[in-house]
Amino acid sequence: MTIEVEWRDYDVIVVGSGGAGSAAADAAAAEGARVLVVSKDPIACSDTKISEGNATVRGTVSDADTEQVLSDNLRVSGADLPLPALTDAYAKDSRPAYDWYRAHGLRPKINQDRKGPFARPLAKGGHTVARSVGHKNAGVAFSHAAWDAVVEGAHIDYLEDAWFLDLAVEGAENGAPGRVAGGLVYHAASGTLVAVRAPAVVMASGGLNTLYFPKTDTMRGNTGDGYAAAARAGADLVDMEQVQFLPFCLTAPASYEGLLVGEPSTASFLGVLRDRHGKVILDGVYLRTRAECSAAIMRAVADGRGTDDGGAYLDLTANARLPRSGKGFMRYLETSMPSAYRTARQALSKPAVRCEESWEVRPAAHYTMGGIRVDATGASVGGADDGTAAAGLSGLFAAGQAMGGVFGANRLGSTALTENVVFGLRAGRGAADHARTHSRATGDDAFRSLIAAAVAQFGQSGDQAPAHLKLELQRAAWDCIGPARTADSLNRMDAVIDDLADRAGRAAVPDYALWNQAFIEWVELRSLLDVARAVTAAARERDASVGGHVRLDRPQVSILAQPYSTVVRGQAANDGVLRFHANRARRPRTPAMRLLAMRLKDAWRKVQAKVLCLLPPALLDPILDRRYRAILGPGDAAPAVSPGGPAAAVADAAE
Ligand SMILES: Cc1cc2nc3c(=O)[nH]c(=O)nc-3n(C[C@H](O)[C@H](O)[C@H](O)COP(=O)(O)OP(=O)(O)OC[C@H]3O[C@@H](n4cnc5c(N)ncnc54)[C@H](O)[C@@H]3O)c2cc1C
Repeated sequence: MTIEVEWRDYDVIVVGSGGAGSAAADAAAAEGARVLVVSKDPIACSDTKISEGNATVRGTVSDADTEQVLSDNLRVSGADLPLPALTDAYAKDSRPAYDWYRAHGLRPKINQDRKGPFARPLAKGGHTVARSVGHKNAGVAFSHAAWDAVVEGAHIDYLEDAWFLDLAVEGAENGAPGRVAGGLVYHAASGTLVAVRAPAVVMASGGLNTLYFPKTDTMRGNTGDGYAAAARAGADLVDMEQVQFLPFCLTAPASYEGLLVGEPSTASFLGVLRDRHGKVILDGVYLRTRAECSAAIMRAVADGRGTDDGGAYLDLTANARLPRSGKGFMRYLETSMPSAYRTARQALSKPAVRCEESWEVRPAAHYTMGGIRVDATGASVGGADDGTAAAGLSGLFAAGQAMGGVFGANRLGSTALTENVVFGLRAGRGAADHARTHSRATGDDAFRSLIAAAVAQFGQSGDQAPAHLKLELQRAAWDCIGPARTADSLNRMDAVIDDLADRAGRAAVPDYALWNQAFIEWVELRSLLDVARAVTAAARERDASVGGHVRLDRPQVSILAQPYSTVVRGQAANDGVLRFHANRARRPRTPAMRLLAMRLKDAWRKVQAKVLCLLPPALLDPILDRRYRAILGPGDAAPAVSPGGPAAAVADAAE
């Protein structure tokens, strides 16, 4: 069949319209670039929209929260895999990034004394300082800012219901990546292929968490398309084995499976994790990182001590039982992560919601910490260690969940919404600058084979349904490259991928162009297969347990070991299948004194937490009661999530 091909010319293509894509488009347009945003979901309907709306803003509580403290926090919690240049950029820009959201309509309540928003008083697990700002209407407030930037933005065109298929690349030779000439898009709503000539592309296409569906709390569009397209075009991916599995997600009922009901901080002062026999498998939960909690659950499951649904019990009952502070805890629970608590209220039994019973929880895929390998300007890099843009795919930029290198082995709660904009703005500026200084594609050759392959897919007769193959892949991914892995499970995954890739070649796709769902399923299946291979290759290179990568058959990485990131680069074999070569990029260890200081601080907090738990209820109750009053503020009003008025506008706050 024939499908119409429409040709367009732009300076910059931005793939995705969540926090990262919208910031990139805004920044590129501000530099004078003509920008096209393509988004398979309606503009701003993305993980940014369904998030809890907690954002990291450095220095909201104390001047001692310096750039170095935040940068160190990110690196130490990420097991020193994050690149210092990226964590430093994050720490430097976290406040301006937050102000970008505010300029586009976010209205926090402002603390006039500190000329900034209020932070939630309890630091999220792994943060050594309270700096997470909560918002009424959660992620909707952030996605509205994203929507505003794209739809109201000058010089920005956008296509919704538009699947970015592949990067068009020219000039690749001798195994070195070439330069971007644009990209091919399937616009489902008009039933056309759109061939977009542009010297720069910003990939802001989110993560790969749908690889683990239904054990994920993210949007279904997280099919790793951006990573796959970048890898097919010759770009490096970094730390792909590092998928964040959020520990406290639901196991049942079926329609709620995978949805998040809390953070480590939800456990509050007395919450613990228990195995199926009631034995404590982790205490001091509220001070732990997500990776520590998920690993504790998956190790108990592997030992045969998990629940029937492969999880563990989050036991909050001790918090709620105390006569005075119990009320404060319940108010804290309702207000600290309001949408997560609403989900718990709908899915769990009434006694569980009152915290008279434990909650059955299981990790679920939440965030992809690895991604496209970039520098601090968001440009694709290649080569040894930090890499250089000269060895990367010229013209490719990435931001948000699509990029890797900033969170390493573990992302701390509330850091992503800020990261979106820190690197969205940098990538947008970088892309506009690149478009200004690099000439346009020399011809349309780079598009021809891409168009031919896409056209050939429509009207394919075959005996395999792509949607069904996707489900098989998702089941295997959870079992083999999910939150717990072994050498054997990695091998099994490779065999499943080979089988499914073979059957994907026999996929049936009807021969109409408008909203062809089977074609879309095939496109996403192809991406999921490519990224599953990338995860497996990186997981094999990471021959020990660290952060989100739990190897049941290997020890934990020693803190004295030289840190390294895994780098994978794809190469299409003769059978057309993308295979990955993995290698290591050295990372500097956080200087010993700084590392020691942070570890001691962390250990001290954990000792204090343990001592607290040992106090008799008559002493403990008033102490916790005072703490909850401090957290909730006068009248238990939970000030951090109150909406702001006109005084919250950026210009007013800066007065
Ligand atoms: C339930 C939940 C709660 C969270 N809570 C918080 C929180 O409180 N604080 C925090 O900091 N983080 C939180 N996060 C994480 C955070 O929301 C996300 O990591 C972040 O918003 C991702 O932004 P992004 O712009 O990178 O991607 P997204 O917002 O996911 O946007 C991806 C975009 O790419 C598009 N896209 C994908 N593939 C294609 C393609 N092939 N062609 C065209 N378009 C494509 C999508 O349509 C979408 O527009 C939460 C996440 C979830 C799921």
